[in-house]
Amino acid sequence: QHTAAEHGGTRRRRRLVLTASPLQGHMTPMIHLATFLHSKSLFSAITIAHSDLNPPDPSNHPPGFTFLPLRDNTSDRSGFVSGVDFVQSLNDNCRPWFKDHLVQIVNGEKEASDQKETIVVIHDDLMCFAGEVAGELGLPSVILRTSSASFFPAANIIPQLYQESRFPVQDSMLQEIVPELHPLRYKDLPFIGFPMNQILETINMITPKTPPSAFLWNTLEFLEPSALTRIREQYQVPIFTVGPLHKIIPTPSTSFLDEDTNCITWLDKQAPKSVVYVSLGSLANADEKTSTEMAWGLANSNQPFIWVVRPGSVRGFEWIEFLPEGLAVEMKVRGLIVKWAPQKEVLAHFAVGGFWSHCGWNSTLESAFEGIPMLCQPFKLDQKVTCRYLCHEWKMGVEIVVERGEIEGVIRRVLVGKEGEEMKQRALEIQEKVKVALSYGGSSYNSLKEFVEYILSQ
Ligand code: UDP
Repeated sequence: QHTAAEHGGTRRRRRLVLTASPLQGHMTPMIHLATFLHSKSLFSAITIAHSDLNPPDPSNHPPGFTFLPLRDNTSDRSGFVSGVDFVQSLNDNCRPWFKDHLVQIVNGEKEASDQKETIVVIHDDLMCFAGEVAGELGLPSVILRTSSASFFPAANIIPQLYQESRFPVQDSMLQEIVPELHPLRYKDLPFIGFPMNQILETINMITPKTPPSAFLWNTLEFLEPSALTRIREQYQVPIFTVGPLHKIIPTPSTSFLDEDTNCITWLDKQAPKSVVYVSLGSLANADEKTSTEMAWGLANSNQPFIWVVRPGSVRGFEWIEFLPEGLAVEMKVRGLIVKWAPQKEVLAHFAVGGFWSHCGWNSTLESAFEGIPMLCQPFKLDQKVTCRYLCHEWKMGVEIVVERGEIEGVIRRVLVGKEGEEMKQRALEIQEKVKVALSYGGSSYNSLKEFVEYILSQ
């Protein structure tokens, strides 16, 4: 534990300015981190700079936080032709507001020169402008990575694979291991199926032009040792592995959508480990055919379920109007369909026995922390990489093939079969290791402590 007195020998104060892109999977870990840092009472100010889209609700956070809106005009994502387009616009529009704010603080500092203050910028990998502005002003900046460590080399190698004509991947190579990225196969690589120019632009955009002062990674040393070694070889800066951030401090809900609390009262009535919880995260979209097959699989599995169908996540429909009437009735008998769930509480509930997920990194860490085996339905980006690790390395997941007759078998294998028992065992072993990492003297505990010391040494 640090105390203000320990670090009070100098008159230098530290102010933190944090910013994350307006995506659920980025904002949540950033807010957890900010809440943790605030709890230390070591920093003179903590500012959360945020875009117009999905702004955090100040009433939900410690009174010590200052919120800085960056007027970026991205409150409606639908006008953007691609994700790259959106992120580029976010960066171009946020930059001047962010820079003005930092310049004002720095100038204020110069005037009151007896009160030395260091500003440290912490940003996610999409709000690249924040690191660039920090660099221009000579301030230290830290990148918080909200996806797995394994995703980083898998994305960074794509330009090289492209030059060597190994990407886009030929069908005959899909099942082969990428020698540099064992155990990933070519089919697990991120960005497969995206236009090549968009891929190269995205990688270029998110690759730091100058290395940050440090990286914070929402992962654990024991989960991804080889990826972390690789990253440490590439970047000669401190890399702090502080995951899972959602467990470092209790934080009020960070959901952009209202959480349906019926989930918990409904779960209370179910048998232990009997329920499959289904959620494809905050961004993935499925077509009508896939969603209908998912529904049939759930109905035919004879297991109780909670299915999160985010409004608009089934292409062409507002919510669940795509379900044939008979099927909708059948589903209501056995399960609960909601628009958004209190996912962390759901996963922690005794009745949940499996998590059918798109393998988003936050969802994966949340499942690992609760020791819940996963049924993996990856869509894009880091999700295929994580799926491979879940199924092949950590052995707490199985890939689900969304076809008539297939799904119910996988659900039953995981929830009630012998294979499921083994996966549950593995998931519980992983849960135990995660708890050790978070507790006194564990790798994430130490890494967080070192990170705080690192900021105080700036
Ligand atoms: N989540 C939630 N309720 C839901 C679905 C998702 O609270 O009904 C949360 C989930 O707990 C996780 C986040 O949304 O923290 C999704 O992040 P993830 O990285 O798993 O996926 P993404 O949405 O970025 O694809």
